[in-house]
Amino acid sequence: MTTSDRPRYRFFLAHHNHSECSSKCVSIGLGRLKFWVCARCLGVYSIMALVISLDMILKFNLSDTMRAVGFFLLGTAPWAHWALEHFRRRSVGPVFLKTISGAFLGFGLGLLLAGHFRNPWNHGFTFSILMLVIGSSAVVFLESFFRD
Ligand SMILES: [Zn+2]
Repeated sequence: MTTSDRPRYRFFLAHHNHSECSSKCVSIGLGRLKFWVCARCLGVYSIMALVISLDMILKFNLSDTMRAVGFFLLGTAPWAHWALEHFRRRSVGPVFLKTISGAFLGFGLGLLLAGHFRNPWNHGFTFSILMLVIGSSAVVFLESFFRD
């Protein structure tokens, strides 16, 4: 294989080892350049930005508590999917499932963040983010504790 035959993938929003990119990332072509983009992050950030924008334009009439409930309803399954992959240290399910899963989490995060922008550090936002940080930290800690 010559240098010109190699795929011209570039690191772009793909925080996985290159060997994992085929199972955790999507390839987006831009002319001769191709970029790996994390499939889950693609769903999270695109939908989150869309929901925040729509909330600013349409001014959703949701209380801070309802936004937090929405975040938990939409984000629990995607979070569990991420935690399962983290514990197993391998990809679970097809790549498109990660994007769909990320989109649900992005929807919940968008609702939550839009509420935070309107009413900074409201009780629903603060509680939800604390639970997310504590839960995710527990997954990372327990995974490394039992593996190493
Ligand atoms: Zn990602």
